Amino acid sequence: MSCVTTSKLMGVDKSSETIVACATGVVRAGISIVRVSGPKAANVCQALTQKPVPTPNKAVYRKLFGHDGDAVDQCVCIFFQSPRSFTGEDLVEFHTHGSPYIVEQVIAACLASGAIYARPGQFSERAFLNGKMDLAQAESIADLIDSQSKAQAVAALSSLNGVFSDKVRVLQNALIAIRTQLEASIDFSEQDIDSSSWDLLIKAQKRLSEDSKSLIEKVKRAIHTASGLRVVIVGRPNAGKSSLLNELTQKDSAIVTDVPGTTRDILKASITHKGSVLEIIDTAGLRQSDDPVEAIGVKKAYEAIDRADVIWLLVDANQVIKEKKADFFGLVPEHRHKDVMWVANKVDLLEGAADLDKKHVDCAISAKAGRNITALLDQTVKLQGDWVQSDFSARERHLRALEEFQAHLINAMSCSQGQLDLAAEDLRYAQEHLSVITGEYHSEDLLSSIFGTFCLGK
Ligand code: GDP
Repeated sequence: MSCVTTSKLMGVDKSSETIVACATGVVRAGISIVRVSGPKAANVCQALTQKPVPTPNKAVYRKLFGHDGDAVDQCVCIFFQSPRSFTGEDLVEFHTHGSPYIVEQVIAACLASGAIYARPGQFSERAFLNGKMDLAQAESIADLIDSQSKAQAVAALSSLNGVFSDKVRVLQNALIAIRTQLEASIDFSEQDIDSSSWDLLIKAQKRLSEDSKSLIEKVKRAIHTASGLRVVIVGRPNAGKSSLLNELTQKDSAIVTDVPGTTRDILKASITHKGSVLEIIDTAGLRQSDDPVEAIGVKKAYEAIDRADVIWLLVDANQVIKEKKADFFGLVPEHRHKDVMWVANKVDLLEGAADLDKKHVDCAISAKAGRNITALLDQTVKLQGDWVQSDFSARERHLRALEEFQAHLINAMSCSQGQLDLAAEDLRYAQEHLSVITGEYHSEDLLSSIFGTFCLGK
């Protein structure tokens, strides 16, 4: 895998190709924005408007002409001159009427004037390659677009503003200081490093390790914010787990039957309730089974319970009245009991509602009749406390890089005074892992895996 540093690319990788895409999604809408970026952007603008390029950063009204010279639309056109544009290149935006046909005609005219179709995320990729933002910031644009709740949007915006990258750079700077001192000791000293310098180095590495541990915890929390509150539905077969998932998603995500043991795998769906994102996981009914496939489902259910923030222990309301609470709670491992909400389902079939009250269930619902579902969600969201707030957005990729960084740092700290070369080597690797987060050090594969998931036109 070939890796390059961004600094090498800055200013050199000005692409010779001019790219075009619709940035607003090709749908019927009030307006659509067609974006053109690259060295021919100004020519494309002139060709389509049959007028000189407008003053940079000024929105002007223009007629647009197709490649056959016929008028296609009227639009608002803005020209951004390199380097003061999103991509760092010359960039033109045509704000057309939002008809998929018009957008198609405008893009065809851009192609006829020398542009080529952009790949998904290619505008953001160019912004990164031209030094307009680092890789973590570029990723936060995708997070911002994908955000479904206030917590997610606030976190992504803060990463876009560089909050996460700055925290990584603080670690980077501390590491560089340690490396500089260590390398100097290797280069200039005939003998071993003296004890007091060595002590100072070890102290600095310990401080760095503490700071990196605390950042790792924050990154974990940020990843959690992005995925939403994890709610696992557990219960005996036929309690109505799949019916509840279907009611929440308003579609037939799961198979509902009277046959116990129908859900053998875990099913996931993401929903938003009053600004909070919940990832709902439907599990196999928890019971001993000789069927090997069902047994795997039950094993997966227990794994999901372990990772859950909230566990809905779903129970048939009629059984709640007849049986003891402990009989149901025995389904969930004891260390997770504090996160259980005891939910009685099928209250539409219940005769003795007062008896149910006496059992102190947390919530009584009917998945089939859609009764009390909002109350169940309200109570669940309340349970989440403030964990869902995160200072910035981050991804699994960042967590892996930080954990690698931490591992190399620990290796370096375990070296003895006589193993300076080994320690230096580990610290060099540690730095590479940090640089992968912000993208100073990256591979082509990494960029395509990141930007390939962006939408077209972004
Ligand atoms: P699971 O095995 O826990 O996933 O249970 P299902 O969702 O497959 O439901 C089992 C049976 O209970 C099906 O016949 C459902 O129609 C029925 N059921 C589920 N929820 C309710 C409810 O709230 N009221 C009534 N009357 N029946 C329900």
